[in-house]
Amino acid sequence: MATRAVGNFVHCRDCGSEIARSAVSCPQCGGRQRSGAGKSKIAAGFIALFLGGLGIHRFYLGQWWGLFYLLFCWTFIPAVIALVEAIVFFCTSDEAWEQKYG
Ligand SMILES: [Zn+2]
Repeated sequence: MATRAVGNFVHCRDCGSEIARSAVSCPQCGGRQRSGAGKSKIAAGFIALFLGGLGIHRFYLGQWWGLFYLLFCWTFIPAVIALVEAIVFFCTSDEAWEQKYG
């Protein structure tokens, strides 16, 4: 491991050790690094697809302003926005998603 690409390592959420970005749990302390508290990209995408007009996907992601979707759902504008967001969610890389919502 003489050479390593910058950006492939992150710090453990629990103990701060340098671990591989793709590691599910820390080899030093065993702390889980992903999926535990993180929100599922696929789930958020499907919620946006089917219930996006009501802002449910925003509530799912812990964003209170999903309320505005609910408020304006009768205009069908939130439904259009949610449809675009669903596509964006599905196109977001796992790494970017983890950084934003993980
Ligand atoms: Zn650790």
